[in-house]
Order: sequence, then C-alpha cells, then structure tokens
Amino acid sequence: MGKQFDVAVIGAGPGGYVAAIRASQLGLNVVCIDEWKNAAGKPALGGTCLNVGCIPSKALLESSENYERLTHKFEDHGISVKGVSLDVAKMQARKEKIVDTFTMGITLLFKKNKVASMHGHGRFVGHGEAGYQIEVAGDAGTEVIDARNVIIATGSVPRALPGVPFDNDLICDNIGALSFDKVPKRLGVIGGGVIGLEMGSVWRRLGSDVTILEALPAFLAAADEQIAKEAYRAFSGPVGLKIYLSAKVTSVTTTKTLVKVEYEDREGKRHRAEFDRLVVAIGRIPNTGGLNCEAVGLELDERGYVKVDDRCHTNLPNVFAIGDVVRGPMLAHKSSEEGVAVAETIAGQVGHVSFDTIPWVIYTTPEIAWVGKTEQELKAQGIEYKAGQFPFIASGRARALGETAGFVKMLADARTDRILGVHIIGPFASELISEAVVAMEFSATSEDIARIVHAHPSLSEAMHEAALGVAGRPLNI
Ligand code: FAD
Ligand code: NAD
Repeated sequence: MGKQFDVAVIGAGPGGYVAAIRASQLGLNVVCIDEWKNAAGKPALGGTCLNVGCIPSKALLESSENYERLTHKFEDHGISVKGVSLDVAKMQARKEKIVDTFTMGITLLFKKNKVASMHGHGRFVGHGEAGYQIEVAGDAGTEVIDARNVIIATGSVPRALPGVPFDNDLICDNIGALSFDKVPKRLGVIGGGVIGLEMGSVWRRLGSDVTILEALPAFLAAADEQIAKEAYRAFSGPVGLKIYLSAKVTSVTTTKTLVKVEYEDREGKRHRAEFDRLVVAIGRIPNTGGLNCEAVGLELDERGYVKVDDRCHTNLPNVFAIGDVVRGPMLAHKSSEEGVAVAETIAGQVGHVSFDTIPWVIYTTPEIAWVGKTEQELKAQGIEYKAGQFPFIASGRARALGETAGFVKMLADARTDRILGVHIIGPFASELISEAVVAMEFSATSEDIARIVHAHPSLSEAMHEAALGVAGRPLNI
C-alpha cells in the first residue's frame, strides 16, 4: 500500500489548488498532484490560469494599454512624449516575474496549509481497501498513492483546427500568443471569442495589423446583444481590430516565415490572407485524456467533460470533478468556487456554488462585464422586465479618465423589481460588476441600489443611475 490521503487533488490550477487548501483547512490530509512545467522546465503550480492564462494575459494587457495611452491617449491631456520605444523582451520579463511570484506563492500557501505537493502525471490505476489508487509519474520516478476522496481538476487544453496543429511559432495557441518575442506585423486570429479579443488587443496596441476571423454571424454571442453591438462598434472602430464575421476558414498553410489562410465569407466568396503569425482561439476542450478513466469506470459526457451533478459529484462514490474539466463556463473563479464547495462537501459540510451569479469579464478596452440574464434570454423565457441604462459619457469620472465609451444596463423583474442581470461595457467594468454580483446574491431590487449612496465622482454612479433608470427616474441624463 502507498502513502494514504483523505483527499487527492489532481491538478493545481485555480480549481485544484484552492480545493486542496480548503480541504486541508478543514482538517483533511491532502495531496495535490500537478504535472505543469514552465518554459524553463521547472514545476510550476497554478495551472493554465497562473502560467499561461488569466495572469500573464492581464499583465500584457496592462503593458500594452500603457503603450497605447502613451502613443495615442496622453496627447489629449496635454502630455506629449517624443522618442517612445518598446522593449518587448522587458515587457515579457515583467510578465514572467508576475507569473513566477504567483506560482511560487502557491508553493508557500501549500506549505502554510500543510498540503502535500507531488509533481508528476496523476492517473487512476484502480481501487483498493484504502480508496482510489493513483499513480504519480514524475521526474523522480513513479509512485502509487491511495486516497479516500479524489478531486479531478485537470482543466482544459486549447482546441486546434482539424489538421492544423499548433507549433507555437507560426500557428499559436494561448501559450504562443502570450510569448511573442517581437510584435508581428500582421497577426491573424481565428476565433473572435475572449482570447481572440484580449490577445488581439494586446498585439494591436503594440502595432500589429490584427485580423480576426469569426465563424459565427453574431459577435460575442454569449453577451447581451446590445453590449455585443457596442463592443463590435468599438473594437472594429477606434480599437482598430479588423473583425470578419461568418468567416469559414477552409485552409491554413505555412511557409518558413508566413501563414496563409483561406476563408469564405457569408456569400461564399473566397478570400486569402497572409499573416506573420496566427493565433487559433476557437475554444478549449476538457483535459481528461491522461486520467485513465477506464481503470475505475469514471464516466465522461459526449463532449469529453467529466460527468457531474450540481454538486460536482461524478458517477463514482467520493470522486468529484471541478473547473474547466466539467460543464459550465471556463472561468478561474468558477473553478475555485467549485473547489471550495467540494472540499466542504467532503468534510461533511454543505458546499454550494451560486451558478446564476457568476460574473463574466472581458479585459479589453472598453472592458465588458456581466452577471445574470441577458435581455435576449429574458425575452426567450417570457420574463417581463424593466431596463435602466446609463452611458459613461454622462459620468464625470469617466470624462476625467477620458474613457467615455459604453454604458451600464440593469435589468429587473417587472413585477418584483428584483435584479435579474447587469451588463457593463466601459472603464473598469471588471471592478464595477462586483456590486451587481453582491446585489443579486442578496436578492436586491433595483430600488435597493437606487437608495444606496454612491461616491461622487466615481464610475459606480453609473450603476446607481442605471438602477434609477429602471424606475424611470434617472437624475443625470
Ligand atoms: P487549469 O488551470 O487548466 O489547471 C489544470 C492543472 O492540472 C494544470 O496545471 C495541468 O497541468 C494539471 N493536470 C492536468 N492533467 C493532469 C494529470 N493527469 N496529472 C497531473 N496534473 C494534471 N479565466 C478567468 O476567470 N479570467 C481570466 O481573465 C481568464 N483569462 C484567460 C486567459 C487565457 C489566455 C486562457 C487560456 C484562459 C483564461 N481564463 C480566464 C480561463 C482560466 O484560465 C481557466 O478557467 C482556469 O485556469 C481553469 O482552472 P482549472 O483549475 O479548472 O484548470
Ligand atoms: P471562446 O469560446 O471564448 O471563443 C471561441 C470563438 O471561436 C467563438 O466565438 C467561436 O464561435 C469561434 N470559433 C469556433 N470555431 C471556429 C472556427 N473554426 N473558425 C472561426 N471561429 C471559430 O474561446 P476562447 O477565446 O478560445 O477561450 C477559451 C476559454 O477561456 C473561454 O471559454 C473563456 O471562458 C476562457 N477565457 C476567459 C477569459 C476571461 O475570463 N477574461 C479570457 C480568456 C479566456
């Protein structure tokens, strides 16, 4: 028999590492198994989010936005700068330093919380008296451990176009897109979703000519239609992304230094484009391939996700799955909350995740954030609602920032006034959305928000005014 644990967590992304810490806080004996190695070949905890996702992308978004401010926005403030230069290597080094600080931070958090950490590939090999047997194959050799409970948090991997493998030189996934050593002159992006827009924005701001090819006729189909329309106007207008909808990519070929893409538009007309680099961001797929599910009979659904119920329980007793590897949005905070809930369930508490109030954020300029139902969802479900809206152009703080594009829209039940959804496009939408999440969690009405004092001048006044707008009594528009 191998080492024995109350809980084995497979994967140390924001789902797994948080689950491990919470389980240990609750007095369980926990091991977290992770196989990630960084570009230097060193084990690095934190999964996609910390290594090649949320954190590095936000670091580059901030750096590139500063460059954009310096080269295009400061002039309005009477600030002119000559001889601006860009050091991509330094920008990337800053990003890496931020990533390293956080990944090393998890190692310290594990020590502080007494979580055992094993580096290597984890897979089921059977079930015995002491629970599930998990083989961990690492650089130092192979070991089999036993765990009474297992939390699968193996995340997701990028989806490739059929027959077009990633080389992360010319044809890149998120890893490649986050680590260009120079600004590509012409950057192609297949997929106009979150990664396409965020990474497209980074390199456009730094000087790339960016073309986004999106298969669907609708832009940002998951967002509220009015927000999506405003976003399309901003991104294809002042932001400068060339966005083609209904683009059917028919071929991708490479030469030594170029990527050639052929696509058809909605009329079936053929187009050819050449790029110095291509990012393919057409969604991600659950990472279950290496788990050896057959050894224990773990069920996957038809799309390859681990099948779970509302409480993240799989078909196997004491085996749970969380995060990108299960149904629901692929968001770091969703993974973490499921991790906490599962750890608490294992410890005998009542773990719970509020799936209806998970906020979404897209970190472009303008930022986009929402929580709850979109207007089109309310219409489709026959729910009567009232809407209030406030544009940032009428906000003193947004004017001072020079970021006046966008608005806040609040949707409330026509009968009860309970807030059903809040949709924001504009400055610091990522921060503003929290007020709406808290309000919805507390079943607030739009009147509750309308009666709360909001600081002046602040962007949060736009939320206040949107709430006043629901009752048809805005004060500043
Ligand atoms: P992951 O973070 O993918 O972690 C899984 C871990 O398990 C990895 O370390 C992997 O190596 C390990 N693993 C897998 N199989 C095994 C095995 N058999 N044995 C051992 N280890 C294994 N989300 C947001 O909420 N906000 C953002 O701003 C955001 N930005 C993003 C930007 C990019 C470019 C990308 C790609 C994603 C972004 N996401 C963002 C999504 C977010 O990264 C994911 O939702 C999140 O990382 C999922 O967490 P997870 O713990 O489920 O899986
Ligand atoms: P996505 O689902 O956001 O977007 C993929 C886009 O590609 C969609 O618009 C889809 O219609 C399009 N598409 C699919 N097949 C295509 C094809 N053959 N040709 C052209 N277009 C095609 O996925 P993503 O951008 O790859 O991101 C993956 C996941 O990572 C997302 O689910 C997201 O939740 C997460 N993420 C989140 C953030 C954030 O929270 N800010 C940032 C980045 C990534």
